[in-house]
Amino acid sequence: MFQKILIANRGEIALRVLRACKELGIQTVVVHSTADADAMHVRLADESVCIGPPPSRDSYLNIHQIVAACEITGADAVHPGYGFLSENAKFADILAAHNITFIGPSGDHIRIMGDKIEAKRTAKRLGIPVVPGSDGAVSDEADAKRIAADIGYPVIIKATAGGGGRGMKVARSEADLVEALQTASKEAGAAFGNDAVYIEKYLEKPRHIELQVFGDGAGRGVHFGERDCSLQRRHQKVWEEANSPALNTEERARIGAICANAIADLGYSGAGTIEFLYENGEFYFIEMNTRLQVEHPVTEAITGVDLVHEQIRVAAGNGLSVRQEDIRFHGHAIECRINAEDARTFVPSPGTITHFHTPGGLGIRVDSGVYSGYRIPPYYDSLIGKLIVHGRNRVECMMRLRRALDEFVVDGINTTLPLFRDLVSNPDIANGDYDIHWLEKYLAKEAEAH
Ligand code: ADP
Repeated sequence: MFQKILIANRGEIALRVLRACKELGIQTVVVHSTADADAMHVRLADESVCIGPPPSRDSYLNIHQIVAACEITGADAVHPGYGFLSENAKFADILAAHNITFIGPSGDHIRIMGDKIEAKRTAKRLGIPVVPGSDGAVSDEADAKRIAADIGYPVIIKATAGGGGRGMKVARSEADLVEALQTASKEAGAAFGNDAVYIEKYLEKPRHIELQVFGDGAGRGVHFGERDCSLQRRHQKVWEEANSPALNTEERARIGAICANAIADLGYSGAGTIEFLYENGEFYFIEMNTRLQVEHPVTEAITGVDLVHEQIRVAAGNGLSVRQEDIRFHGHAIECRINAEDARTFVPSPGTITHFHTPGGLGIRVDSGVYSGYRIPPYYDSLIGKLIVHGRNRVECMMRLRRALDEFVVDGINTTLPLFRDLVSNPDIANGDYDIHWLEKYLAKEAEAH
């Protein structure tokens, strides 16, 4: 096992990883920017190293400084959390070259899944269902017309170098197609410096359902069931649940087995998430994330397995602590992402939290790095905490979530808590009846009403 792990992240996820290290008896080092000297993860770590000024590119993304921090402190592994360097293949390669273990998959696997076209080809080869579309970038207008006619309208044009939901355009007929191609390609060129685009069948009302997978690095793959992350705003997840209200046991077992086998065939190591759009009983691969996800706690709640412990075990060469048949799903869990933002306008709200009181009791988990008197720096993501609620079934979970939201107090800044208080009493949400467009439509209606 590792002696000392360096945590190359900040906020709630740095604290999350730190907790796992402590439970495994591993020493911790955290790195931080000058803006984060007072952060909770810095206070609780065994050692801390200041690696630069507030901007991420000078601190949390500064590979040089992080490697130096490992060497100074003698850390033998790095946990990258999510975001920042967690899907940076070069970082994984550089650490390997310094004999420091990257707690995550190989640089090559990160590279494959980081390239949209390559990822889709690999998924297809591994037997994962993908969205019908062009095999790679489209060469010209005629090519695009042929492919679109072949798969049928509507279609979506996407940037091969895309990310963050940018550079996508829907075409509903051949008349729309030429303009959509030109706009998408121009936007892609401006945003990513690469104007290549590809075509997919456009799904009208899909859900976002993702499978939590793990490779043990020795040819074994398992799945930990799915999460439904359909409630999104601007392609950012807002509320996540496990299991999905839309899947039954057979569907879960079928897609789970496909994903677990794919992970085994790939020889993948560590945690991963295979993301799908799901419509009319069919799954369509969109991407694979080669890291721990923000929403991993809902999976932990229903399986009872600490996924960060598993990541560390696998990276250390000790394999997974569970086999597929040991992974059982108990009850239902929901996560709400609490952001320091106005609940209606979503304008960021940095500043000092004058009072922070979290709910408690059976089935409640709050992952947060903030505390009363903490000043939220304006430089980073606005996520200040996650409320994760578990119940024996979805109804109990929703009732518990409602009372937990009532107990939650964050004073001094605006947060998205009021949005969740509205959502938890909405009939569609209560029925689990929503797709990936539901929240945007709901917010538009609310904005109109005010
Ligand atoms: P990015 O990497 O830019 O986030 P994704 O391929 O993950 O791009 O897609 C982002 C979002 O765009 C999806 O979550 C979904 O809401 C929408 N989307 C992508 N592809 C399709 C499709 N074929 N049909 C309908 N919606 C899609």
